[in-house]
Amino acid sequence: MRTFPIFVSFDGRPPLVVGGGQLAAVKARLLLKRADLVDVAADALAPELATLVNAGKAVRLEIRPGIDEIRGRPLVISATEDEDEDARIAAIARDLGVPVNVPDRPALCTFALPAIVDRGEVTVAIGTSAEAPVLAQRVRAWLEHELHPRIGDLAKLAGSFRARVAEALPDGPLRRRLWESIFDGPAAKAMLQGDEDKARALIGEEIDRAANAEEDRKGSRRGRVLLVGAGPGDPELLTLKAVRALKAADVVFYDKLVGEGVLELARREAELIPVGKAKGAHSVPQAEINALLVARAKAGETVVRLKGGDPFIFGRGGEELDALRADNIAIDVIPGITAGAAASASLQIPLTHRDVSHTVTFVSGHEAGGKAPSFEHLDLTALAAGNNTLVVYMGVTTGAVISQRLLDAGFREQLPVIAVENASRANERRVATTIAALAGDPEGLGLRSPAVLIFGEVAGLPHAGAVETILSHQEVARAYA
Ligand code: SAH
Repeated sequence: MRTFPIFVSFDGRPPLVVGGGQLAAVKARLLLKRADLVDVAADALAPELATLVNAGKAVRLEIRPGIDEIRGRPLVISATEDEDEDARIAAIARDLGVPVNVPDRPALCTFALPAIVDRGEVTVAIGTSAEAPVLAQRVRAWLEHELHPRIGDLAKLAGSFRARVAEALPDGPLRRRLWESIFDGPAAKAMLQGDEDKARALIGEEIDRAANAEEDRKGSRRGRVLLVGAGPGDPELLTLKAVRALKAADVVFYDKLVGEGVLELARREAELIPVGKAKGAHSVPQAEINALLVARAKAGETVVRLKGGDPFIFGRGGEELDALRADNIAIDVIPGITAGAAASASLQIPLTHRDVSHTVTFVSGHEAGGKAPSFEHLDLTALAAGNNTLVVYMGVTTGAVISQRLLDAGFREQLPVIAVENASRANERRVATTIAALAGDPEGLGLRSPAVLIFGEVAGLPHAGAVETILSHQEVARAYA
């Protein structure tokens, strides 16, 4: 019999035991662990049952039980030890929907009696689906040994503080933490040692302390802004701190490049506000974003400013930081995995390599105003000498112009370039080419934003996964030779 465990309330209704022998007496005694009164239907009573009746704990029904005696019972145990009579009782109970148990006849039962470890308020019921009653007894013996004899008293004591705790700490998680600290601490220990007065005093102190701490926290509740790197898109590439920040957020302002799976990790009640800054389509101007962050933090909220990749790499994180500092807002910065690092990991191509590249430079493919960069701040002649890697962000539309500029500065024509679109996402795409081929064919890569372009000898190292090429295989082989 596969069963589902529940705890039944008798709720003032006496359960019925049918039968007057010793088996019935054992069942009546069991029920009296929780029932105030048990009704017993029997022609004659074994001595133990007679004692229970005399003590006012059992009432004897002198008629043969039928529908009227069974209806409305919380449960019935038929222990007449007469097969036909037990079957008759079980059938009536079943018809009426009253739970019924017949000892050792599982086919007649609609519920099973568990092995019980009884510590009052703490009760453990053990079932083995009637497959192994002896094993159930073993488990019971083990639990009897493990469970402190006063654990039920501890539960009862906790129960007497429930209302007070609920009032002092309306917040569920805080309340839970308080109870955990009570059950792990000196109050529980005192109670288990039998010193209820001391336990009460200690619990009272713990509640006051927790409530005061909460008041202090609320009183001094100051908003803050967490500048959080959301990584390249794959939520698995978030830091644990980023996830924790999302779970704590009252409001999340996020960029267009933030992956959907990432937003799903935000606290369910958090307000999610897109401030989508895609290149060329500044849907919310930076000054406005700065003002929003400041206003919400001043209102006491935990504000998460979520940015693709790392907030301090081409993320205008610095500008937001300045605005927040000017208004004295508390700030946390949580780094993220920048797109270049994600692309490199995905390709299994290192950005630096003992043999071919000793430095890596992250550059933006756009200047303020949307133009291709002049790169005048870079020592292109030094870079052209090789031994370095250039990772270009926001270079999808300017890749060709950039390539030409690099060639003009002396980069070798067959220098490998590899572009990664949507690094770390399900729709990731990679394209390999050479700097000369890219310079000659602006549309050649067919790339779409977001993508990074990696220029350098490392781009010719063996890589993992499929890579498209815009050259023939021979040309690529030659270029990468
Ligand atoms: N702070 C971000 C960069 C923001 S600038 C970071 O550290 O990654 C936006 C540029 O980042 C895009 O134009 C593109 O070049 C790059 N980018 C962002 N996410 C990317 C991704 N999943 N795959 C490839 N490039 C990405």
